[in-house]
Amino acid sequence: MLPVILSAVAATCLAHPAALDREVGWRALPWLPPDLARQVVRHEQDFASGAAEAARWPRPAHQSGGRSGIEATIQAQCERLAASIRDRAPFAEVVAGLGSLAHLTADLNAPFLTAQSGDRHAQAFALYVPTAAPRIPLVFYGLNRPMISGAAGGIPTMLRPSRIRAQDLAGYVREDLDRLGGPSAWREACSKYSAACCRSPRRT
Ligand SMILES: [Zn+2]
Repeated sequence: MLPVILSAVAATCLAHPAALDREVGWRALPWLPPDLARQVVRHEQDFASGAAEAARWPRPAHQSGGRSGIEATIQAQCERLAASIRDRAPFAEVVAGLGSLAHLTADLNAPFLTAQSGDRHAQAFALYVPTAAPRIPLVFYGLNRPMISGAAGGIPTMLRPSRIRAQDLAGYVREDLDRLGGPSAWREACSKYSAACCRSPRRT
């Protein structure tokens, strides 16, 4: 019910490209329990719908800090998912919830989460990420045991270092973009690369 209410008063989140949510979900499959991975594949469209729905939640849910910030929203989403699984909700609903969680965690790790819509570096980075994502290897650092076995109320505190790291990354990205021709040059290059990618068959 909560997502329904939230989506009625929301604008689409622009912190990262929507395609990234699906990419992250797809590439996380090897680390999921096999039964759950099979359900995610079976309900791929529900995963995408859940991610898209989370992108429409109100702006504070995509911003760091506070009682309705992204850390608290991730906690609430984890609790909602745990309840869905415990109550044997249909897997379409569970997988949609995972899609929403994928969107939120991608936001948490987005360097330009707080950027204004006219931020040229943020725009160039948003174009760059989807073109680069297939070439970036996914690294799994192992399970975060305290986060899995601890109380859900501790999740926001445990997420804070990730947000700080992502925020710091924005400064390095700005420097790199400027050193390599500035945001405009990157936007042009990425647009050409995207067009080339669209002409080539990709994973189905
Ligand atoms: Zn978002």
